Amino acid sequence: MEKRTRWWHGILARSLMAVVGIALLMGGMSSLLVSRMVGEQVHDQAVIKLGELLDTVENTASIACFVADEQLARELVQGLLRNSEVLRVSLRTGEHELAHAERKVGKVGPGRTALRTLLTPSVHRVLHSPFNADEVIGEIRIDADWAVIDARMDSYSRFIGLLFAGLLALVIAAAAAMMLFLVIRPVKAASDRLHRLDPASGERLVVPEGHERTEIGRLVEDINALSGRLVETLDQERALRRQKEIDQRKYQDLFDNAGSGIFVADRDGLLESFNRALVELIWLPHREEGTRRLTDTGWQAPEQLLALLRASLDAGGDGQLEDDFLLLGRRGDERWLHVAVVPLGDGSVQGTVTDVTQRKREELSARRLAVTDSLTGFANRVGLHRSLADLDPADAPFALVMLDLDGFKQINDAFGFPVGDRLLLAVAARLRGMLGDMDQPARIGGDEFALVLAGEHDREMTGARVERIAEQLALPYEMQVADAQSSLVVSASLGVALFPRDGVDVQQLLRAAELALNSARQAGGRSYRFFDPALQAAVEHRRRLEDDLRAAVASRELKLAFQPIVDLRERRLAGAEVLLRWLHPQRGHVSPEVFIPLAEEIGLIGAIGLAVLDEACRQVALWRGAGLDIYVSVNVSVRQIPDDLPPVVVMDILRRYKLPPEAIAIEITEGVLMSNVGVAQAWIESLRAAGLRIYLDDFGTGYSSLSYLKRFPLDTVKIDKSFIRDLHVNSSDRTLVEAIITMAASLGLNVVAEGVEDAQQLALLDEMGCGFGQGYHFSRPVAATDFLETVQRIDTELLQAGKRP
Ligand code: C2E
Ligand code: MG
Ligand code: MG
Repeated sequence: MEKRTRWWHGILARSLMAVVGIALLMGGMSSLLVSRMVGEQVHDQAVIKLGELLDTVENTASIACFVADEQLARELVQGLLRNSEVLRVSLRTGEHELAHAERKVGKVGPGRTALRTLLTPSVHRVLHSPFNADEVIGEIRIDADWAVIDARMDSYSRFIGLLFAGLLALVIAAAAAMMLFLVIRPVKAASDRLHRLDPASGERLVVPEGHERTEIGRLVEDINALSGRLVETLDQERALRRQKEIDQRKYQDLFDNAGSGIFVADRDGLLESFNRALVELIWLPHREEGTRRLTDTGWQAPEQLLALLRASLDAGGDGQLEDDFLLLGRRGDERWLHVAVVPLGDGSVQGTVTDVTQRKREELSARRLAVTDSLTGFANRVGLHRSLADLDPADAPFALVMLDLDGFKQINDAFGFPVGDRLLLAVAARLRGMLGDMDQPARIGGDEFALVLAGEHDREMTGARVERIAEQLALPYEMQVADAQSSLVVSASLGVALFPRDGVDVQQLLRAAELALNSARQAGGRSYRFFDPALQAAVEHRRRLEDDLRAAVASRELKLAFQPIVDLRERRLAGAEVLLRWLHPQRGHVSPEVFIPLAEEIGLIGAIGLAVLDEACRQVALWRGAGLDIYVSVNVSVRQIPDDLPPVVVMDILRRYKLPPEAIAIEITEGVLMSNVGVAQAWIESLRAAGLRIYLDDFGTGYSSLSYLKRFPLDTVKIDKSFIRDLHVNSSDRTLVEAIITMAASLGLNVVAEGVEDAQQLALLDEMGCGFGQGYHFSRPVAATDFLETVQRIDTELLQAGKRP
C-alpha cells in the first residue's frame, strides 16, 4: 500500500524547519548579546559625552563661581539642560548652591532605567580659581537622563534586531531555494521518472544535468545498476520457471506414456501414484483410488518385493536397489519383471518396473546351454563339474570313468568333421544304451567322455563293467562315408577313479581319472586302467623335474658335450655333434631323452636351443682359431622351428663369432618335416641358402619317407643307431642300411652311421661304402675341455689303422 505523504514529510519542509529553528535560536541569542553590547556602549558614550560637556563649560563655571555671579551660573546650567540627555545640573561654591536646574520628567519606575539611575553616579568636576589653580572654589555636577538614553538605545536595538531578522530570512530563503533547485528538484524528477520507469524494457534513469559527479548522479547510477541486476535476475527466474513448466509437462508425458511401469509407493507398498504402463505390466486390479498396493497382484514372492522397498528406504541417500521378480498370472501365464527402486527422501520410494521375461528365458536357456554339450546332449565339462560339486565323503560311492577315443583325430582328418561328429553321436548312443538311470554321461572334450557310474565301489565289478563298455565301443560303426556304406572302427582308452577312495572332490577325481586314462593311452590304447597312487607319484616326480630343469637353465647347469664324427673314407676327424648334458645335483646324470621332451613341453626348448647354438659356435670358433678345421652339428627340436630359431638369428650368431656357415650343421628329425611342411621348407631353405648344412637325424625310426629326402634340400642322412647295433647279426638291418646308403648316394646325400660301437660294425659299414661314422668306437661324447685330447687320440688311431681298405 502506498504511504500517504504530507507536505511536512518532504525534505524541503524538514530542512526548512530545521534551519528556521536553528536560526531563531541563534538570532534570539545573538540579538540579546547585541542589545547588551549596544546598551553598554550607549551608556559609556553618554558618560563620556557628559564629561565633554563639563569640559566645555568648566572655565565659565569657574568664573561664575569666582565672581559668585548667579546670573551667569543660571544661564550656564540652563544652557547645559538644553542637552536632551542631561537631567539635572547644579553649580555650587562651597556650601552654597549657585545655580540648579532640573528637567521635569515623569517618575522613573523601578526597572532598568531606575537601576541605572541609581547605580551610575553623577558626572562632576571640581572648579579651581582662574588665578590660583590650587584653590578649589566650587563644583559643577551633571546627572544624565537615563530614561532618554535607554529609549534611544531601545530603538537602536530594535533596528538592529529587525536588520538581523531580515538577513536571517534572506539566508533561509536562499538555502531553501538552493535545496529546492540543487537537491529536491532533481531528486523529485528522478523519483517521478522512477515511478513511470519500465526497467524490463531497458529504460534507465537519466543523470540530471550538472549532477554527473554529485551524490545524486551516483545515486541514479546505483539505482540503474541495481535495477539492471534486478531485471537480469528476474529474467533468469522467469526463464527457469518456464523451463520447469516445460520439463514438468515433458515428464508428465514421459510418465504417462512410458513403456516401463513407474510408481511411487510407501514402505508397505501403498501406491501414491503410478502410470498406465504399471497397471498393464503387473496386472494391477482396479480398486478405489489411493487404496491400491503394489502387492495386490500375483507376485511369486511379495514379501521379497516389500523387503526391497524397505531396504531401499532404510539405506537412504540414493539407495537404489533392484531385483527380478516373477509375476504369476491367473491364467497360468508368468512374467519376469525387473523392479528398481530409489528412496525419494520423504518416506516413499520411486520405482520402475520393466518386463524382462525374454531376457530371463534367454538366460535360463543359456544357463542350460552352458552346462550341456550341443552335439550329444550330454553334460559338458562345466555340467559335469556342477553335478559333482559339493561332494561329501559320506555320499554314495561311484566310479568316474574318463574315456578317450583312440585315433579319432585321424578319422576326423581323413573323413572330415561331419563324419567325426556322426561317429561321436554313435559312440554317445552306445554309451547311453549301457548306462543306468542313476549313471551320468558327459562329453568333456572333442573325443573325451566322462561317465559317472553310480554305486560302483568294487574294483573287480567296476573293471568288468568298464571292460564291457570298452568292448561295445570297439565294435564297428556302420555309417555312410563319402556316399558309401562303411564300417568304421574306433577303440577307446579308459581311466577309472573311484569315489571316495581316489578323491573326495571333483578336482581330485577328475585328475585321478585323467592320470589313469593317460596310463591306459601310454599302454597303447584299447584298454582301461584304474587310478594308482604311483601314477600320482610319477606326475609329482615330473613336476619336480620340471622345476629343477627351469632352475638348471636359469643357473646354466646344462653343459655341452662333443662327440666326434669321423670321415670313414679319409680316416680322419670331420666334425662333432653337440649333445646336451645335465648333471643334476641329486639325481646325477639326467638323459637328454628325458629332459629335452620335457623342455619342449614346458616351452623351455627355445631358450635352451639358442644357448646351445651360441655356446657351440663360441667353442668351434675357438677350435678353428687354434687350427682345428672342423664343424659342429647342433640338434634342433621341432618346437624351435621357425619362431624360436629364426634363420636371421642363426646368422647373427655366426657373424658374432666370425664363423663361416660351413662351420655349423643343423640336425633335424623327420618330425620337423612332417609338422608344417611349408614353414619347415622355407626355414630349411633359408638356412641352406645361407650356406649351412642340414642333417636328417635318426633316419629309419620314423616314416623314413623317400619323398622327404627328395623334397627338402638336405645334405646328410644320419642312420639311427638302432640299425647299426645289430648290423653284424641281423641281416635285415644290414639290407636296410645298405639300401639307405645306396639311395642316399643316388640322391647326392652324405650318410653318417650313428652308434658305431665296435670294429666289426665299422668293417661292415666300410664294406657298404658308408661315408661317415659316429659312435663309442671312436669316442663317447666328451666335454669341450677333453675334446682336443680326444681328437689327437682318434687321429693317431685312424692313422695307425690306415686308410679304408
Ligand atoms: P641324437 O641326436 O640322435 O644323438 C645321438 C645319441 O646317441 C646321443 O645320445 C649319443 O650319446 C648317443 N650315442 C652316440 N654314440 C653312441 C653309441 O655308440 N652307442 C649308443 N648306444 N649311443 C650312442 P644322448 O646324448 O643321450 O642324446 C639323446 C638325444 O637327445 C639326441 O639324439 C638328441 O635327439 C637329443 N639331444 C641331445 N642334445 C640335444 C640338444 O642340444 N638339442 C636337442 N634338440 N636335442 C638334443
Ligand atoms: Mg643328433
Ligand atoms: Mg641320432
